[in-house]
Amino acid sequence: MSVRVRFAPSPTGHIHVGNVRTALFNYLFARNQGGKFILRIEDTDLERSSLESEKLIYEDLQWLGLDWDEGPIIGGNYGPYKQTERYKIYKKYIQKLLDEGKAYKCFCSKDELEEMKEKALKEGRPPRYNGKCRNLTLQEIESFEKEGKKASIRFKVEDLEVRISDIIKGEISFKTDAFGDFIIVRPDGMPVYNFVVVIDDALMEITHVIRGDDHLSNTPKQVLIYNALGFKVPKFAHIPMILGPDHSKLSKRHGDTSVNQFREKGYLPEALFNYLALLSWSHPEEKEILSKDELIEAFSLDRVSKSAAVFDFEKLKWMNGIYIRNKSKEELTKLCVPYLISEGLVTDRYVNENFDKLADMIESIRDNLELLSDVAQYIEVYFKLNTILDEKAKELLVKDTSIPVLRTFLSEIEKVDELNEKIYKTIVKSVQKSTGAKGKNLFMVIRIGVSGLTKGPELDKLVVNLGKDEVVKRVREILRLIGNHDF
Ligand code: GLU
Repeated sequence: MSVRVRFAPSPTGHIHVGNVRTALFNYLFARNQGGKFILRIEDTDLERSSLESEKLIYEDLQWLGLDWDEGPIIGGNYGPYKQTERYKIYKKYIQKLLDEGKAYKCFCSKDELEEMKEKALKEGRPPRYNGKCRNLTLQEIESFEKEGKKASIRFKVEDLEVRISDIIKGEISFKTDAFGDFIIVRPDGMPVYNFVVVIDDALMEITHVIRGDDHLSNTPKQVLIYNALGFKVPKFAHIPMILGPDHSKLSKRHGDTSVNQFREKGYLPEALFNYLALLSWSHPEEKEILSKDELIEAFSLDRVSKSAAVFDFEKLKWMNGIYIRNKSKEELTKLCVPYLISEGLVTDRYVNENFDKLADMIESIRDNLELLSDVAQYIEVYFKLNTILDEKAKELLVKDTSIPVLRTFLSEIEKVDELNEKIYKTIVKSVQKSTGAKGKNLFMVIRIGVSGLTKGPELDKLVVNLGKDEVVKRVREILRLIGNHDF
């Protein structure tokens, strides 16, 4: 039978990295096995779900390259793929359980249930429903309904042991007396997660349920429902959770944790994809930099570890830097443009008219980038001359050779028609010869002359990319500052 797996997010905001790692493992497993990866929207919590959030989920998954084979937008043979569109289906199975005496209506009020719970806790028993409405007669039910009382529907649970053979966690057994008869439909008519998830997984012929281990305790309840309805129980694989650097569960407290935040900061989807795949899974040869295809090829559930993974923000950044360095010049430029525009360094028009020039500038600072959003800070030097010189710059400029270096550099540059690296090198040699300055006294002084800074892109690239006119303008301005003791 061919593999069918699903990712079933609740649309309550952008996807958290923990959740998207679950999607990723499902995706990798499906692609590795030549199976299907299905997206299902679990939107039965009407208060917390929104269409807006659904869209965010689609965007996040698409950005990361987790394309689904069946699901919202594209459809499929097992739809609809949104739970709010499946009520009719759920109703049928609820009725079936009621008809077969496997579920029953419960009219107990909130207060009664609260009392039951307190009593159980006092007596040191697990708080579970005491079965009060298990055997109501038809007349009793009718009269409650006439009174306008709303019933929840409970699933009848016999005392037994449910054994689960989890692909990751191994053999686990659960005693059902820990939870007892549980609600499958709330008094407002809404079926609950533990019920609908079974109907959907069964009817969508899901073969492997791969999800976070926070759902492990739900699994025995779900298995009971599979059995009661005569559905085949899928295989389960519960993935360990992700911890923050302080080893507590990864959350907003630790910084950026939703996919869109990573995207906005300038992480590349390939880098995040690669990094997330290594959280509780490892390559058989412990390789770390792996393309999507390599991950698909190597992925298996046997290599998913039982223990939680720690999210290492620094490592992700480092990995992102590697992916940035591997981009083509043109691609990297296109990726950087939105960051430059939002920082106000360039306009669309500038980009259209100066794309190649911009690409050269970005190329000169590529090695500094770990995040795309770093680009503005490194490239600013091309757009602004810094005129507030720091101490290090001032110390250098007061040396005897500094003004002659800048003056000679300026007059040599003024003589040429345009700049390229060869011409620049010849000019620097001649400045060195006529002023006797070398090392810092030569190169750093020129750097300050063209940027007002003591750090920046490689000097020859900086000068050439700035171009003759801009260099002339800048060196004059710096000379003016020195002349006026304006620093
Ligand atoms: N909607 C559930 C969640 O987001 C899905 C759980 C499951 O995969 O069964 O946690």
